[in-house]
Amino acid sequence: MLAPFTAGWQSTDVHPLVIDRSEGSYVYDIEGKKYLDSLAGLWCTALGGSEPRLVKAATDQLHKLPFYHSFWNRTTKPSLDLAKEMLSMFTAREMGKVFFTNSGSEANDSQVKLVWYYNNALGRPDKKKFIARSKSYHGSTLISASLSGLPPLHQKFDLPAPFVLHTDCPHYWRFHLPGETEEEFATRLANNLENLILKEGPETIAAFIAEPVMGAGGVIPPPKTYFEKVQAIVKKYDILFIADEVITAFGRLGTMFGCDMYNIKPDLVSVAKALSSAYVPIGATLVSPEISDVIHSQSNKLGSFAHGFTYSGHPVACAVAIEALKIYQERNIPGHVKQISPRFQEGVKAFAGSPIVGEIRGVGLILATEFADNRSPNNPFPAEWGVGTIFGAECQKRGMLVRVAGDNIMMSPPLIMTPDEVEELVSIYGAAIKATE
Ligand code: PLP
Repeated sequence: MLAPFTAGWQSTDVHPLVIDRSEGSYVYDIEGKKYLDSLAGLWCTALGGSEPRLVKAATDQLHKLPFYHSFWNRTTKPSLDLAKEMLSMFTAREMGKVFFTNSGSEANDSQVKLVWYYNNALGRPDKKKFIARSKSYHGSTLISASLSGLPPLHQKFDLPAPFVLHTDCPHYWRFHLPGETEEEFATRLANNLENLILKEGPETIAAFIAEPVMGAGGVIPPPKTYFEKVQAIVKKYDILFIADEVITAFGRLGTMFGCDMYNIKPDLVSVAKALSSAYVPIGATLVSPEISDVIHSQSNKLGSFAHGFTYSGHPVACAVAIEALKIYQERNIPGHVKQISPRFQEGVKAFAGSPIVGEIRGVGLILATEFADNRSPNNPFPAEWGVGTIFGAECQKRGMLVRVAGDNIMMSPPLIMTPDEVEELVSIYGAAIKATE
C-alpha cells in the first residue's frame, strides 16, 4: 500500500501498527493490545469507536436505500434532513444552504469554487485570490493543499497554486516580539493582513480562510482579540470569511462550533470528521444566504451549478450524520467536554515545567506539547534526536496512541471520554514525559 502521509511505501521491512477493532475511547491492534486513542483516529471519532446508534443508522439506511444521488433536482430524504439539521444547529449567524462533500479537503475545494462562482456572478472576475495562514491545514487535494500553509504539502508538488497567499501564523509563543502582549501580537498580525490586502489590491482578494484553532499545524489557539481584529479587516475590504471547522465543529472546544467560542461570523463554514463521528466519510460546506441566493439565481440562468460528486449527500453517510448530530444534542456533548476538559488541560499542563517541554497549549479537548530545550521556542532539539518520536513510542508502549509531528505531540481524544479515562491519559502522558527526559 502507498500510505498517506507516510515515509516510503509500506513493505515487508516496515511494520505498521495494524488496528483491528475499537471500543469506546480505545482501539486494539491485530495482536489484541489495547490503546487509549488520544487522537480519536485523526481528530474525528468524536463518539468513540463503538456507538451502536450510528451502526444502526447505517445498517437501517443500507437496507432501505444504500444509494441515490443528489444531482439534477433528485435527492434523498437523509440529505435533505441533514442539511436542515445542520442549518438549525449553526447559530453563530444565519446560514442559507449546505453543500455536501465526502471529506474536509473536498469541502475546502468546494469553498473556492463556490466563491469564484459567486464573484463571477456578481461581475467581479478579478476578485479571486485566497488568503490563508502559515501552518494552517485545509486538506491535501490540489486546492486545499494550496490553501494549507505547511511546506511538505507544497514541496515536490509544485504548489501552492498562484491564487493563494499566506499570512502570519498566530502562534504567540513562537512568534511574539519581546515584551509584546497577546493583544499587541494580534494587532500586528491584523495590520500585516491589511498590508497584504492593500499590496495585492482588495479588488483581487476573494476570501480569507482560517481554522478557529489550528490543528495539524500544531494545535494553535488564537491569541486574545485575534479573530475580532481579523474579521474587522476582511469585512472592511469586502472579503469573505471561511471558517474551516473540520476539527472544531460539534463540540471539540466545549462549544458546538469553534465560531461560537471565538465569536466568528463566517460567510462559509467547512465541516467533516465529527459530522459522522468518522463512521462514514462525509463533509460539507455551510453557505450564507447572501452567497447561496446569488448562486441560486445565477445557476438558474446557466442551467446548473456544475460542481459536485457522485457521493455528495450519500444517504448512508447522511443517515449516520443525522444520528451523530442527535447524539451531540441529546447528550449535550459540548457540555460534557466543558466538564471534563479542565482536568485534561490542567493534568497535562502540570508537566509544563519539564526541561524537555517548550510549550503545552490547547483548549477544550485538543492539545499539543511542543518539545524544546529550556522552554524556549529558540531552542528546538536537533531533529536527529527524535524527541517527539521517542515520546510517542513511550506512550505507545504504555497503551496510548498520540500524534507525533516532529517535536510536536498532539492529542484530541474522543469527546465521550470518561473522567477515569482522562486520568489514565494524564498518567500515561506523565510517565512518558519522565521516560523521555
Ligand atoms: N481542514 C482541517 C482543519 C483539517 O484538520 C483537515 C484534516 O485533518 C482537513 C481540512 C481535510 O480533511 P480530510 O482529511 O477529510 O480531507
